[in-house]
Amino acid sequence: MPTTRLQLPSIGLTELQELISLEGLPKFRAKQIMDWRNKGVLNPENMGNIPQNIRQWLKDTLCCEPLTLSAKQCSEDGTRKYLFTLPSGKNIETVLIPESERGTVCVSSQVGCVLDCPFCHTGTQKFEANLSAGEIVAQVLAVKEDLRQHPMQEDLHHDVTHLVYMGMGEPMANEQGLHQSLAMLMSEEGLHISRRRITVSTSGLTPQITQLGEAYPVNLAISLHSAINSERDILVPINIKYPLEILRECLNTYPLAHQRHITLEYLLLDGINDREEDIQALVNFVNPERERINLIRFNPYPNSPYSGTPTERMNSFAKSLISKGIRATVRRSRGQDIMAACGQLKSSNTTKTTS
Ligand code: SF4
Repeated sequence: MPTTRLQLPSIGLTELQELISLEGLPKFRAKQIMDWRNKGVLNPENMGNIPQNIRQWLKDTLCCEPLTLSAKQCSEDGTRKYLFTLPSGKNIETVLIPESERGTVCVSSQVGCVLDCPFCHTGTQKFEANLSAGEIVAQVLAVKEDLRQHPMQEDLHHDVTHLVYMGMGEPMANEQGLHQSLAMLMSEEGLHISRRRITVSTSGLTPQITQLGEAYPVNLAISLHSAINSERDILVPINIKYPLEILRECLNTYPLAHQRHITLEYLLLDGINDREEDIQALVNFVNPERERINLIRFNPYPNSPYSGTPTERMNSFAKSLISKGIRATVRRSRGQDIMAACGQLKSSNTTKTTS
C-alpha cells in the first residue's frame, strides 16, 4: 500500500524539530538526523550517534526509506543504472553519470509517462503514478549512499554534484513533486545544490515552464527534436497543445543564470528529422544568444520504430548548424553497454519477471 507518512528524504529541518519536540525528545537530534540524511544514510539503524529510542521513533513516525534498490548495472565507463522499487511496488530508474570533475544523477519524476513521444521507451510504458518529492530526493540520496559503499574508480568524481530531471516521466506534469523536491535539493538544510547545477528537462509544457522560472529558475532543457510543427506534432505530441510559436515566446522570457543557456535536445532520427529542411527550420527557430542545441544519438530499444542517424551525417548536421551561427554539440553516449536510455532497465526487469 502507498505510504501517507511524511518521508525523511524530503522533510525540512524545522518540521522535524517540531515533530521531535512534540514527542518530548531533544530538538538537537533533528539536526543530527538531517546530517545523516544529507549524506545518504536513511536507515535509522545506521545513524551512529542517534540513540536507540530515537531511531525507533523515527522508524515509527516517518517513512525513512521510500525506495528499495532492486537492481543495479555498472557500465565499463563508470555509469551506474539503478532500478528502485517504491512502497507501492512500482519500479523507477535512476542513472549516475560520473566524469572526472562531476557526478550527475539523472532522476525519474513519474512511473511511466503521461505523454506519448513515439521515439521514447518510457512513453511505451503506461503512466502509473507521480513520484512524491521524497521519492525524487531519495533517488539522489540512494546514489550518494551507493557511492559511499562502493566508491567510484579513481579517475572519476566520487560524489553527486549535478542533477538532471531527465529520467522516466515528464517532470512538469508532476509539478508538486518537482517543486517540492527542488526546494529540498536546493535548500541550505538540504543538499544545498546550486540552481546552476540542476537541469529540468521538459517536452514543452509552457505554463509550467513559466512557473518553474518564477519559483526555481534552474537550468532548462527542452526536448525539441524538430522545429517544424507538423513533424514535432508527431515526435513530441504535446506540441499539438503548445506549438513552437508558444514555446518560442515562453523560452524568450525564461530567466537564465549568468552565462547560462537553454539546452534544446535534438534526437537525430534517420530520415525523419535530419534533413536539410530540418536544419533550416532550426536556424529559423533557435535564438543563438540564449540557446544551444544538444544533438543526441538515438539509443535503439527492442521494437523501436526508428533508427538513429549515422555518425557521419550527425557530424555534418552539427557542422552545418555551427556554420549558420548556432551552437551545437553532439552528446557523448554513456553507458551504452547497460542501455542507458530511460525506461530500459525497468522494461528488461518487467520482461524478466513476467516471462
Ligand atoms: S520523451 Fe519524456 S515526455 Fe516524452 S514520453 Fe518519454 S519520458 Fe515522456
